[in-house]
Amino acid sequence: MVKVNDRFETLPESYLFSETAKRAKAWQKNNPRKRLIRLGIGDVTLPLTEAAVQAMVQAAKELKYADTFRGYGPEQGYEFLREIISNEDYAARGVRISPDEIFISDGIKTDCGAILELFDRDNIIGFCDPVYPAYMDAAVISGYAGDVDRGIGQWSKLLYLPCRVEYGFIPAVPQTRADIVYLCFPNNPTGAAATREQLAEWVRWANTAGSVLLFDGAYEAFITDSKVPHSIYEIDGAEACAIEFRSFSKTAGFTGVRCGYTVIPEALKRNGANLHQMWRRRLSGRSNGVSYIVQRGAQAVYSAEGREQIRERIVYYHKNAEIISRGLKNIGLTVYGGENAPYVWVKTPHGQDSWTFFDVLLHECGILTTPGVGFGPSGEGYLRLTAFGNRNDAEEAIERMKNTI
Ligand SMILES: *Cc1c(COP(=O)(O)O)cnc(C)c1O
Repeated sequence: MVKVNDRFETLPESYLFSETAKRAKAWQKNNPRKRLIRLGIGDVTLPLTEAAVQAMVQAAKELKYADTFRGYGPEQGYEFLREIISNEDYAARGVRISPDEIFISDGIKTDCGAILELFDRDNIIGFCDPVYPAYMDAAVISGYAGDVDRGIGQWSKLLYLPCRVEYGFIPAVPQTRADIVYLCFPNNPTGAAATREQLAEWVRWANTAGSVLLFDGAYEAFITDSKVPHSIYEIDGAEACAIEFRSFSKTAGFTGVRCGYTVIPEALKRNGANLHQMWRRRLSGRSNGVSYIVQRGAQAVYSAEGREQIRERIVYYHKNAEIISRGLKNIGLTVYGGENAPYVWVKTPHGQDSWTFFDVLLHECGILTTPGVGFGPSGEGYLRLTAFGNRNDAEEAIERMKNTI
């Protein structure tokens, strides 16, 4: 008789977004003539760039003819894409990451979870609290998490690193054992960005402890502050302790197209094992790579037109974030994030808990947000608002709140 992976039983239903959707639906039913403003989404809304679309159309046409047809590509990704990433995302910032150290993937939600296959389940994994839920799901499914305490929704073997307002929502390095730590900066959900000094402390800690940092740079394109590094590898020593994940999803609107990459430097060794070689070996057994068409689309993101078209989109989202942040501040709320990330992290007023303020905004203003507590206990007392909507919605949301909050 087959035995299933019973860790799935301890995995919570994706409660957060199903619950917010349920409440939004009920509101719409009771208010059929009102329009809901959605500031809860974690997806882009602006369409693909002309440059990426042209490149993908061209690539699809190549596949139509015998002499330009391509079947299985390299598992690690095409050289043309790895080369341009190495030059534009790294060399241009004074960082040496060779094309060989870059692995193209169908997006980094996949890789952030799959990377745990390189490690033993006895390792202790540390997570920011609040956190992007996908890392934790992966840790639970692959058996790193121990037992769940359903009351508080936490696992016995995971280490929670509180991200507190006093420290700008940047977690302190652990005082107890942690072998692997997920870091994401600029951060989803708080919008906080770590400075060079803060990341340097993490790198020092990881190299001393012999730990590995899993650095999610999904929001790199939103960085505006010159003190904020764009890659963990801008920090000396990071090549010996960090794996970096980067995605075209939020940068170039590829959330539906699917492309990202993972960097594992050759210098990253633990217990005499070379993690780069291990990942390469794993890929050859587990993947047949990413579509040629998609990789041509990703390459076009780095062309002059591609860059300009992307810049316009990022500027648009930044402006939304600014409108939302400034509007909330004028109303008298306390606001974080929004400057180096498309997320605004707002403190609930009058000591309300996250769900209470969520309901106030939904019922009084017809605005859908995301309760901070849904990302972890330290998110209690906050809401996440996204700038990935349209301009009118950002403006109207503030108008609606002004008159009610
Ligand atoms: C959106 C997001 C991603 C994106 O992952 P893809 O699979 O590349 O689309 C990764 N990490 C964080 C924190 C995100 O918010």
